[in-house]
This record gives sequence, C-alpha cells and structure tokens, in this order.
Amino acid sequence: MTDKPETNQPIEEAAEKVEVLREILDRYSHEYYVLDKPTVTDAEYDALYRELVSLEESYPELISGDSPTQRVGGTILPGFEKVPHDIPMLSLGNAFGKEDLLDFDKRVRKLTDKKVQYICELKIDGLALSLKYKNGKLIQAATRGDGIVGENVTQNVRTIKSVPLKLKYPYSIEVRGECYMPKASFVELNQKREENGEDIFANPRNAAAGGLRNLDPKQTAKRNLNTFMYTVADFGEMEAASQSDALEQLDKIGIRTNHERRVFETIEDVWEYTQEFQEQRSNLPYDIDGIVIKVNDFQAQADVGFTIKAPRWAVAYKFPAEEANTVVNEIEWTVGRTGVVTPTAIMDPVQLAGTTVQRASLHNVDLIRERDIRLNDTVVIHKAGDIIPEVTRVVEELRPVGSVPYEFPTHCPACDSELVHLDEEVALRCINPKCPAQIIEGLTHFVSRNAMNIDGLGNKVIIQLYEKGLVKDVADLYSLTYDQLVTLDKIKDKSANNLLNAIDASRSNSLERLVFGLGIRNVGANAAKLLAEEFETIEALQQAGKEMIIAIEGIGDIIADSVVTFFELPEVNALIEELRAKNVNLIYLGKKKETVAESDSYFNGKTIVLTGKLTHFTREEAKERIENLGGKVTGSVSKKTDFLVAGEDAGSKLTKAQSLDVPVWNEDQLLETLEGEE
Ligand code: NAD
Repeated sequence: MTDKPETNQPIEEAAEKVEVLREILDRYSHEYYVLDKPTVTDAEYDALYRELVSLEESYPELISGDSPTQRVGGTILPGFEKVPHDIPMLSLGNAFGKEDLLDFDKRVRKLTDKKVQYICELKIDGLALSLKYKNGKLIQAATRGDGIVGENVTQNVRTIKSVPLKLKYPYSIEVRGECYMPKASFVELNQKREENGEDIFANPRNAAAGGLRNLDPKQTAKRNLNTFMYTVADFGEMEAASQSDALEQLDKIGIRTNHERRVFETIEDVWEYTQEFQEQRSNLPYDIDGIVIKVNDFQAQADVGFTIKAPRWAVAYKFPAEEANTVVNEIEWTVGRTGVVTPTAIMDPVQLAGTTVQRASLHNVDLIRERDIRLNDTVVIHKAGDIIPEVTRVVEELRPVGSVPYEFPTHCPACDSELVHLDEEVALRCINPKCPAQIIEGLTHFVSRNAMNIDGLGNKVIIQLYEKGLVKDVADLYSLTYDQLVTLDKIKDKSANNLLNAIDASRSNSLERLVFGLGIRNVGANAAKLLAEEFETIEALQQAGKEMIIAIEGIGDIIADSVVTFFELPEVNALIEELRAKNVNLIYLGKKKETVAESDSYFNGKTIVLTGKLTHFTREEAKERIENLGGKVTGSVSKKTDFLVAGEDAGSKLTKAQSLDVPVWNEDQLLETLEGEE
C-alpha cells in the first residue's frame, strides 16, 4: 500500500531522512489536529507520510514507537475533560489506487474462509466522534483524541440537531461516526468570518473540528454541524451479523447514517463504485476524501483482525492525490515559435490525479526565482483532474545541504544566440529569426489541429524535413514530393501517400485556419476566426488598417497592432503569394458574420452557471446555445451569477446559489427560454 521501497541509499542517509520526515509530519499533525489550521493539504501530508512508510519498510530497524506511522494522530485540547475509550478508536489503512485495492482483497481472502462481501461507504471528511447511550439516552460524546483517550464534547454535541438525545429504543450502546460541516455552511461561515476580519478556515473539516472542540457550546450551535454515524462499537442490546445490518438498525433507532453505502461481491465492483463517487464528489453537499471499504460480515471481520493502528478488514481508498512531492532533476529550456524560451522541470515520475507526471512547466524566470526552485529540490506539484501539473512550492526542509540558487541560461539552447528580455518582459527570448527551434515550432504550429490540421506531420517528421533542407517555411510543405518523403525515417509508401493527401486536403481549408497557422503574435484560434469572418479574404485582411480591425468585437488594441505589424513585413507578403501560387485557399468559407442584434436576447450579458445532470442536452450544448445568445456560462456560483440552472442531482452549487439568493431555474425553464429566443 505504499510506494516502492527505496533500497539504494545508505542507512545513515535514510535515518536522517526518517528523522526529518517525522519532525515535519508531527508539526503538520499538530497544526491539523490541535490548531485546526493545517498549513499543507492532506495530499501533501499523505505524500510525506507514504515516503516515511516506504523508508521504514526498507529499513525496519528505523521504526520506533513514536513514529507517526505507529500512532493514531491527534491529541487532547486543554480545557476538555479526558475520556478514555473502552475500545480504542483506530485509524484506517489507506489505498491509493486499484493495485492497492487488489492487494487488500487478496490479503482479506487469505485470512478468512468465509464468503467475502464488501460494504462501501463514503469517507466523510470530518472528525471522528463517539456517542454513548444508556437506556436510550445520550450520556457522552467524545472525540477520537489519540485513539485511547478522547475529549469530552457532550455539551457541544447536544447542540447538533441530527444527534438524537434519546433513541427510539432504550438501548445502551456506543456508536461512532463522523461529525462534519456541510459545504454550504462552510462557505457561509467563511464569508462571515472574512467580513468580520477573522481568519478563514482552510476546509470544512477544520471548521467542523474547530466548532466541535470549542469550549463554548453556543459557538458549536452556530456552526450548523451534522453527523453520519458508521460503526457500532458496543452493541449492548442490539444484535447484528454484518455492517450493513448494523447500519440499518441504526437508522431504525434514529441515528443518522449515510445512505450512499452499497454492498458488493467483488473487488472489481468496489473499484467501479470508487470511480463513480470520484466523479460525483463535487456534487455532494458535504466533503468526502475517499471511500471506506469494509468486510461486511462480522465473523469474517473477526477472522481478518486488526493491526496496532487500524482494522485489517477495512481500508480507506483515497481519491487520487491532487498533490504530490517529487524531486527536480533538471530544468529544461525550450524555444517556442515566437522565440520565448520556457523552462520545464524534469522530475522523478510521480502518480498524480490518476496519471504519471514527470514534467511541469515553470513558465518563466520569475517563477523559478520567486519560488526559489533549485536542482535536486523536493517540490510539491499540484494537478487537479485534467489541469496541467504545476510546481507549487519547494519543501525547504528537504533541500540538500550545499544547494545553490538556480543559474539561468544566458544563451539560446537551440542556436546559442544571446537571450534577452524585451520591453521588461518576464520571458527570456531568443531574437534570432533564423533560430532553427523557432522555425520548427512555427511549422509544427502551422500543421496543428486547430490550424491547417495536417495529420501525420508530427514534430519528429518536421525536424527531419527541416534538417534535410526540404522545408524552410510553411509554403515549402506544398511542394513536397513522394520521393522526398520516403527518404525520411519511419515514412514508408503508405504513410507518404497519406501525408501527401493530408497536405493536399489542407489546401481547401477555410481562411481562419491559415490566419491562425501563420502564427501572428497574440492571434489565437478565436481571434483568427473573427478576423477571417470579418474580412473574408486574405487581401482584405492584409490591407486592413488598425481602425478597421479594432472595430471587430472581441479584438483589442494589442491584437490589432500585431496583425498590422505582421502584414507590413515584406517576407510575409511574399509567403502569401507563394501559398497562392501553390493553390492554398485564401478565402473564408464559413458562415457569414451573424448580424442578429444580440442585445435583444434575454441571455445577453447574463452570467449563468449550469449544474447537475441535464437531460435535454449536454452541458456543452447548453453552453453553446446560451453563448450564441450573448450569455456567459461560468463554473462557479457567486453574487454576480444571474441565475443557476440546476439539473438532476445538483449538489453544492445549488446550495451555494440558495445561500446567496441567486435565482435557480430548472432545465425546462432554460429550454423554453432558449427556444423562445433562438
Ligand atoms: P484517515 O482520515 O485517513 O481515515 C480514518 C478516519 O476516517 C476515521 O477515523 C474516521 O474518522 C474517518 N471516516 C470517515 N468516514 C468513515 C466511514 N464510513 N467508516 C470509517 N471511518 C470513516 O485517518 P486519520 O488517522 O483520521 O487521519 C489521517 C489523515 O488526516 C491523513 O491521511 C491526512 O490526510 C490528514 N492529515 C492532514 C494533515 C495536514 O496537515 N493537512 C495533518 C495530519 C493528518
């Protein structure tokens, strides 16, 4: 359940690292459990924790009783009465991917002969709570503390509405679960705190912990805390044969449980469930940080048993980390088509949000300087879902002795010309127009999907074409012959013909593709479309003055200047003539410019958020239709949102909209209004 153990370092070095890691983890735990003010994310904590586990696995002689890997985190705050737990409140082992789940399944099945069923429960991101009832009356509520002794928070818990002070049956039992703060309450609380100039909480979990462990129960009452109970620690008069059975009984006696739980026969199905909730988690009105998988049958649980820190019959699948630590081995500098030289960190490969990450752009010199990123530094990288990985900071405690600030290159890595900063630009630039890297990047851009879309002309082929002197500019692409192409590495008969066909097909592209492909500074695909739509032919665009260009909605001063400057260059005009001679289309072939008076539309100028499942169209379609009518679709609800469209199973965005009094529409209202306007 850990990263591969590192075995190739001397024990003294490992011992030193283990010490440093323990010290950092203890500090983070203190900030998290005692102060309720974490300074790093859970993923970062988990990454360091895993590093420690991995080292202790490779060097078992370094394990000591006070290591964070051997203890349940958390302590008791002064001011609270200490209550010993009759049965220790344990932590859970973690699983970070499918492999870990398969390992868990194998271990479980080895330890029991009974039929194994798993119950999957959402891992609520709050803090553990124990509730004791005597003859059906709540007599004690306690936090987990260090697992052996907790804090008596009975008075505070009495203010939580979902905790029954009296059960429907006069049972004497102890139940355990999670106390949490709903996302909407968290947003509201932080807004109020901000207005009052108070510190804001990092996340709902810390806000809940601060609320529950407050010496004044009136403060707890204001936090709108809630609970989901998930375990019976002491059954008293209750009888149950399995976890699912126990949870159903809790429901019956008035204890709140979470109803997303499901029982499965196979670990494959368990995996599917984890994936389903990984996607849905943002729609839930409370935070979850994973899925807890438990052996369902109590007899089978007893067979599988416990470790010192956690049950062996359960595991917490943690959603893929959006942050991880890794080491920067190198900073690579690459020249873009406009001559900007950008740094990329080359790092030890690391799993992040479901993919392996080894490279991350460092954008520019200033970023490296500000974050003081050095070679061999351990850095924190962040990546959420499809978002590009980013180096967020250096873990200075792990910086090697003798490390020196990074030295920036002074010369172009491709052509060795001196690098400059233009007009106080942050970017380093190579200003040699003949720089081969810039030409190759320019060609690559020209053939790319949003530009001329010439399939099969990858970067490697372009480099060969350039190096063999077959292509010096984009017009040369249109003179390539079969005989030339088959001289290239990996290009055979079929691929050569395909390539020639793709090049030929690109001759009939509409003008906007060419305008974008030419690589005019600041002109992206969108601006290229606007320009082509407006001027319709390349001649008209070449002759257009700044005034005419600026008049286009969506085109500003900077783009207009770039376009004018570009078409003033004699070599550009020569290139266009060459393209014309080679039968490349220079006319806009798309729909003529829309002339609808958008100001009439209801949607014009409105900011709209879409959430939940839409049934009549996809979100993309809805967005496009709204945008065609002049509306703007954004991802998060704020006071500026004009209205929210809530589809099925809408979650936190809906709650937030309600808390901000943002009007909420259903999908039918949206559809009707769209149809009325289109
Ligand atoms: P854990 O959070 O990994 O898992 C155990 C806990 O899960 C249980 O104690 C219980 O409270 C909770 N839980 C939620 N739903 C549950 C369910 N349905 N069934 C059973 N348990 C459920 O372990 P932990 O020991 O409580 O905390 C360690 C974690 O805390 C770390 O992995 C890290 O993410 C976080 N942490 C963060 C920092 C920081 O600085 N950011 C510091 C220390 C710890």
